[in-house]
Amino acid sequence: MNIYISGLYSGTNPQPGLGMVRSLRQAFPSAQIIGLEYSNRCSGIHWHELDEIRLQRPWHELNLELHAATMQQLLDEGHYYISGNDLEILWLSTAFPQGHPCLLTPPADALRLVRKPAVAAFQELPVQIPPYISTRLPDFELHAFCRRHNWKVWLKGPYYEAIFCPNWAAVVGARQLLGKAWHTEDLVLQAHITGYEQSICFSACKGELLDAVCMHKRDLTELGKTWAGDVCDVPSAILSDLRRIVRQLNWTGGGELEMLRDAEDQLWLMECNPRFPAWIHGATLAGRNLVGRLVAAASGQPMAAPAGMPASEFTRVVLEVPVKKEWPLPALKEPFAGAVGHNMKHPAGLLEFARKLHKKEKDLQIIEQQAPAGDAPRVPESYLSDLSTTDFSRLDTPCFLFLDQTAQQTFERAISYVRRYSTPELQFKLAYSIKTNPDKRLLQQALKSGFLAEAISAPEVAAAVAAGFRPDQIILNGPGKWWRKEMLPAEPLHAVFCDSIADIKRVAAALHDGSLKATTVGVRLRSPGLPSRFGISVEEPDHFEALLEAIDRLPQNCRFGVHFHMASSNVGLGIWKALMTAVIHWCSSIEQLTGRRISTLDMGGGWAPDDWSQVAVQRFEGAAALLKKRLPFLEEVISEPGKAMAEPCMALAMRVLETQPALNGDDAREVVVDGSVAELPMHYIQPHRILYQQANGQWQSLGRGKTNLLGRLCMEHDIVAGAIDLPDDAQPGQLLVFCDAGAYDKSMSYVFGHG
Ligand SMILES: *Cc1c(COP(=O)(O)O)cnc(C)c1O
Repeated sequence: MNIYISGLYSGTNPQPGLGMVRSLRQAFPSAQIIGLEYSNRCSGIHWHELDEIRLQRPWHELNLELHAATMQQLLDEGHYYISGNDLEILWLSTAFPQGHPCLLTPPADALRLVRKPAVAAFQELPVQIPPYISTRLPDFELHAFCRRHNWKVWLKGPYYEAIFCPNWAAVVGARQLLGKAWHTEDLVLQAHITGYEQSICFSACKGELLDAVCMHKRDLTELGKTWAGDVCDVPSAILSDLRRIVRQLNWTGGGELEMLRDAEDQLWLMECNPRFPAWIHGATLAGRNLVGRLVAAASGQPMAAPAGMPASEFTRVVLEVPVKKEWPLPALKEPFAGAVGHNMKHPAGLLEFARKLHKKEKDLQIIEQQAPAGDAPRVPESYLSDLSTTDFSRLDTPCFLFLDQTAQQTFERAISYVRRYSTPELQFKLAYSIKTNPDKRLLQQALKSGFLAEAISAPEVAAAVAAGFRPDQIILNGPGKWWRKEMLPAEPLHAVFCDSIADIKRVAAALHDGSLKATTVGVRLRSPGLPSRFGISVEEPDHFEALLEAIDRLPQNCRFGVHFHMASSNVGLGIWKALMTAVIHWCSSIEQLTGRRISTLDMGGGWAPDDWSQVAVQRFEGAAALLKKRLPFLEEVISEPGKAMAEPCMALAMRVLETQPALNGDDAREVVVDGSVAELPMHYIQPHRILYQQANGQWQSLGRGKTNLLGRLCMEHDIVAGAIDLPDDAQPGQLLVFCDAGAYDKSMSYVFGHG
């Protein structure tokens, strides 16, 4: 019996070839086992249990028709073929659409049904699929997805590779890297699930399930790959479903369901690999030779009895093996720049092979496409009507535009939301964060809409007063409140929050001697469980005790309050909710231990505009019951939105300076604009919707495409937008408007390159 095995790479992120070889050698001691590989860099070719090596040209040099003919011949001669390489399995399913009795890999229809991320075929198992979103969707929606999943997301490549992305810059970087490497826009962002990893591995022949085992990872490599594990039976409830599904799929070959079990005991299905896993010999060591069973079923030949006692746990070790002298080691690859994420697992031209497959077999792509390319983000009506009142003919670009109607709507809508939840006993109030954008028009709009103003310095308090706020409409916050303290008004402020124990002492003294006046005085708590430089820590008993003692110094004729602030746009919505709940409980403890009634709770800002209107307000409402129960003396709850209000209110207009068509169809086109990252300092934190003015004056929202917008600065990082769908006929002088630039883009923009 001749058995061909591929996928022999054996490093810390190994392919399954060697494990299959070892298991087959045990089951069929006298079979000819031949390794078929595409690179002499695959270390497994030196394994002593292989009788022969058939080394092919690397994938990108192979003539695939010829290769298919060679395969056909080999199979027709009755030689079995088991592939350990996902891409090769995909290709085999197209090269042999009717299958072949000696080809022990799954058919194309089955492969289509196990594509990630949905893994449709196995959804009937008692598992859930982690939420996911196609990266073809507008950046604006991707950013929202990340916030909703607490900035714990993975960007997944079409075949292999997943990159953990804890922030927007990481998402953009990983998308560029994987997109370029695998030559596709069909990538997926998927929510991270915290849990223990386990797999179900199965073996089937023509739809008959031969055996299946469950493996729990017990030790991992740096990449999270199995280093040790235990092998046990598949729970019977799952086994019967598995048997039925495998029959429906008419599966032949190995398969692996990669899963996570979370703290609630829920199983999450990450993916289904259409082959045996690299740890497969661990199952054989446990007395379950799934590869042997496969060949036995296909060939009708009996398996040899295993030598030695089965062990239900296995571990890997590092072994040196002699290099076969007919396959001497190649020289080390020259270091190549920018190779992050591309390890030596793909020495055989797999990336190029992926490119070929993509072009040839669109519907075989492992990741399903959910959105058409170039889908442009929706831009609110008010942006367009504000733009229609702007005279662009005299505009020197780059230039920030103030969107009047948008500002009015944003502030009015916000205040109407919170009024809905206010009762005479418990008032919900809003305070506009001045530092986010101190533009007088925004301050005046905030005042007009009934906001308070939130300042982090005396000059900001003065700016609020200059815009028309009364001192009793101003909240003073932050660690720098004594900077230029002579600018503070003599009248009482609405509230002052202390950022440290020292600050409490200083504020208490100032309130006692009358140099500072405030209706409410409070403390800012450092966010428990999250890194922060602000506020007073409550987690260490010593710190908490010091806080309680310091609170005692605050004058009794002021009301007392607690403040916390942590940007949900950075930590995610779930984490923010947990933080709010934790703070409410800490407040309750503070109230009981100091005997001081908490009348104000200030929840800070840090909301993305969409989250503020859709989520935050419901969160406040949801919190109301807990607040009433835990803090019975509470009179006001304050939210301090900055960017949620300011971001939509300004946009940055810029003009095209130079265009040049891409020289090669695959290349990105580069267009230079007169704007720069100096005016969009938030470009790596938050996406901007981009409007392009067509020749007829209409505004067009731009989706993803093949143009990079390069800023005017002579700085490598000055790329104001990557991969956008700028129309081919864009000419120098044409206008682009970057929306959503009214918060920190505006306030932190700097003058650079102006001479
Ligand atoms: C900055 C700041 C805000 C506003 O934050 P945004 O991210 O702009 O919403 C609110 N409260 C405090 C204490 C702040 O420091």
